[in-house]
Amino acid sequence: MLKLKDLVANDSEMVSLTKYVRGNVWPNHKNQLPECIRQYWSVRHELSFCNGLLLKGTCIVIPKEIRNEMLRRLHYPHLGITKTQLRAKNVMYWPLMNSQIEDMVVKCETCSVHANNNTKEPLIPHKVPKLPWQKVGIDIFFHDCKKFLLVVDYFSKYVEMVILQNLLSPYVINCLKSVFSRHGVPKTVVSGNDTSFTGFEFKNFSSSWGFHHIYTSPYFSQANGMVERAIQTVKNIIKKSMLENTDMYLALLEYRNTPITHNIPSPAEILFSRKLNSLLPCHEKLLRPKINRNVRKNLSLRQYSQKMYYDRNVKPLRPLFENENVMMRHKNKWVKSKIVEKRNEPRSYIVKNDQSGKSYVRNRYHLRPFDSFEQESSDCNSKISPLKTRSPNKSLLQSQPSLTSSNKTSPIRTPQPKHVNFQISPSTKDQPNPNPNKHATTRSGRPIKPVDKFNL
Ligand SMILES: [Zn+2]
Repeated sequence: MLKLKDLVANDSEMVSLTKYVRGNVWPNHKNQLPECIRQYWSVRHELSFCNGLLLKGTCIVIPKEIRNEMLRRLHYPHLGITKTQLRAKNVMYWPLMNSQIEDMVVKCETCSVHANNNTKEPLIPHKVPKLPWQKVGIDIFFHDCKKFLLVVDYFSKYVEMVILQNLLSPYVINCLKSVFSRHGVPKTVVSGNDTSFTGFEFKNFSSSWGFHHIYTSPYFSQANGMVERAIQTVKNIIKKSMLENTDMYLALLEYRNTPITHNIPSPAEILFSRKLNSLLPCHEKLLRPKINRNVRKNLSLRQYSQKMYYDRNVKPLRPLFENENVMMRHKNKWVKSKIVEKRNEPRSYIVKNDQSGKSYVRNRYHLRPFDSFEQESSDCNSKISPLKTRSPNKSLLQSQPSLTSSNKTSPIRTPQPKHVNFQISPSTKDQPNPNPNKHATTRSGRPIKPVDKFNL
């Protein structure tokens, strides 16, 4: 405390301010104050001097020299912007403190590395193929020391499962050939980034068998959408039957015979136009082939309603650009990287890790802009709205309208207009009121109360 008193006594800004506060004689106009203390004009009546310290209410006014140290101490627990500002507001004050806190948290590398995931983006559903077995998804998964290859038809959701002896590409390709020899060669095969699918052997396989191979971003199962869900269902069937020591093939047979919804028949009926005989009793009539109409239409309708449901709480993230600095989700952490290029697949990018120099494929969901104020999840505790932005100075100006002119000459680095939204979702009340005499209103005409959050 002694040191703080010394700093107040030796800081020209504090000395000048102290004179006015102690004398309690303020000029009629802000411009009559020395330039260095004009920023205090709007709070002049809240200032007091006590025991060698300047106070604003019960908050200690912090001299310039130790503001950076105070910022460091405030951010000691690496909380988000809002929490750090709340903590500061309790005990200390200096002009533009809030925007400096925001700036610091947004730029904090530790917070960036451990930031939350991005918000979900709107679903991009795969177009329902025209025909069964035209487009299939393939995936490898592991359970109980066993390796499984799954092949799922995008149209019928019919699943083929193969227990793999090894993951060598030629072996996996052979298993796929066996599946394709039964159902035909699909036009498109969608896979993840498993090494069994990414080598030259698989490339040769796709060109010699004449199918188009596309692979999705790693860790982003949503990219494989509906297929991923079918795969998840089958994985669960296999895991559960292994757990119960029941016949997983009988379980798979029942899955293939189970209708997809009340108006979409089972995968087997869509693919083979007939039910498969199983251990459940079934009239012979039902086992006869029967063409199912309207399957594609109902599948599309189902997909549409799934998208509507999924998109209720999503926000699109802005596209990223070549050479843009980003944080990439890698092994459950955010790591500094750079965008190399955008891939043809939607929201997919090739990204280079700064540290290892290695390139990776990532979905936009696993990338966040860095070195800018468009940090989509820099505030670990706030809801993020990446496309809506707000300037901290503007918010400060709103609560301290008389700071406008001093703000322009402020030596403090002011953030660029685009940056994280760290408060509640931005709305009209986040914008400065151009005419302070006229109350701002919402779109519905309801008057907006001025924000007092920054009224320090
Ligand atoms: Zn931090």
